[in-house]
Amino acid sequence: MSRIVIVGANHAGTAAANAILDNYPQHQVTIFDQNSNISFLGCGMALWIGGQISKPDGLFYQTKEQFEAKGATVHMQTTVESIDYPKHMVHAVSDGGTRIDQPYDKLILATGSEPIIPPVPGMDLQNVQHVKLYQDARAVVDKLHDPSIRRVVVMGAGYIGVELAEAFKRNGREVTLVDMAPTCLAGNFDPEFCALMERNLADHGITLAFGERVLRLEGEGGKVASVVTDRGSHEADMVCVCVGFRPNTQMFRHVGFDMLPNGALLVDHHQETSKKGVYAAGDCSNTFNNALGGNPAYIALATNAVRSGIVAGHNAAGTPLESIGVQGSSGICIFDLKMVQTGLTRVKAEAAGHEVRVSDFKQVQKATFIEEPNPEVKIRVVYDAHSRVVLGAQMASTYDMSAGIHMFSLAIQEGITIDRLALLDVFFLPHFNQPYNYYTMAAYNAVLGK
Ligand SMILES: Cc1cc2nc3c(=O)[nH]c(=O)nc-3n(C[C@H](O)[C@H](O)[C@H](O)COP(=O)(O)OP(=O)(O)OC[C@H]3O[C@@H](n4cnc5c(N)ncnc54)[C@H](O)[C@@H]3O)c2cc1C
Repeated sequence: MSRIVIVGANHAGTAAANAILDNYPQHQVTIFDQNSNISFLGCGMALWIGGQISKPDGLFYQTKEQFEAKGATVHMQTTVESIDYPKHMVHAVSDGGTRIDQPYDKLILATGSEPIIPPVPGMDLQNVQHVKLYQDARAVVDKLHDPSIRRVVVMGAGYIGVELAEAFKRNGREVTLVDMAPTCLAGNFDPEFCALMERNLADHGITLAFGERVLRLEGEGGKVASVVTDRGSHEADMVCVCVGFRPNTQMFRHVGFDMLPNGALLVDHHQETSKKGVYAAGDCSNTFNNALGGNPAYIALATNAVRSGIVAGHNAAGTPLESIGVQGSSGICIFDLKMVQTGLTRVKAEAAGHEVRVSDFKQVQKATFIEEPNPEVKIRVVYDAHSRVVLGAQMASTYDMSAGIHMFSLAIQEGITIDRLALLDVFFLPHFNQPYNYYTMAAYNAVLGK
């Protein structure tokens, strides 16, 4: 029997806890979380704010009681303040002031990430919102009941900023999306794909202010009133700050952990940190990016949090289990435009030193004789000019073609060349696809040197 302590019980901590509780009943599991809720799916926040779902109840999948029913001890609203690693002791304090000293044999750190607050004046004004926790989403939804909040400026046009811009628009607000990059989603897609999303946002009435650096927020009567950039000013009754996340690892600095430059705890493929018996998972730690030679990378996604939590749980419980790394696969759906990607964009592959080739292809999804809506799918496959190994793929359509990206994720994981995909056995049925499918056609064109 081991005493396993888990710090943080959102996606990574929950996955680790369930891996242990469901498979190793002999261990004693103690969970700490400073929040009052567990397992909030931030991915559903924009759907709630935009009114696409009516209530947040379905955005949670785990409760304290479910953990307790499996035998865990759970301390909610209890912050771990310090850890004595030589003595194997966690020191925590509850919101009510009760102090807990909890010994451990194995420790799993799953403290996640926190929103980056840009260092510009005015961030403390009223109605400047961050979006991370359930409580943040609740505050936004509550404030939107006030009709005087008419104009919303979203700072940051990555996935979350774009999703929230859509949500505020669906909620009937005038929305301006600001980013210092020249386009949206620039971290995940090549410019040709970003342009599709730009047009989509503009067509739905969202004002785009790209290539603008925010200098300060200005207020009136303590409330935010405008966002001043190096190219002008945008009136705002609410500002939503979505400029990214950093690992929540302040507590682990200067106590002997190896870390990435951004402060993520450096783990090995067993999720073990540089301290023996101390594991880390989720947004507070690195992943291994197979598209970049399997090197440690920071890719903060719930998918990675769950996978790494499972790996950490099994290893802490005594079963060696290795992570296989990730490709950073992700997707977005805005006003019906779906965009998915895996691995490296052309821009990122070039930055990583590859001589890059891309194969672009466009095709309607289903057989052309189908007499129902048959949207076009645009695909780009990125590959290395010399080894011909697939480095990345991007797809865009109003059709839900999202599952196709998983094949490219596997291709990158396994180091497959683009030539191996050209004659791949892809089934055909007119209801679904075409006999010469866009996946294989993109690869076939690459074989032909087109
Ligand atoms: C708006 C939004 C949309 C998103 N959409 C997607 C999506 O569509 N797909 C996707 O894959 N990912 C998405 N993500 C990212 C995803 O939510 C994160 O990657 C995920 O939450 C990481 O899980 P985690 O458990 O590692 O960390 P976190 O969710 O950050 O949880 C960390 C937990 O640790 C607790 N904690 C921290 N410090 C302490 C302490 N000292 N003592 C006790 N408890 C502590 C916190 O209270 C928290 O419960 C989205 C994120 C946001 C904000």
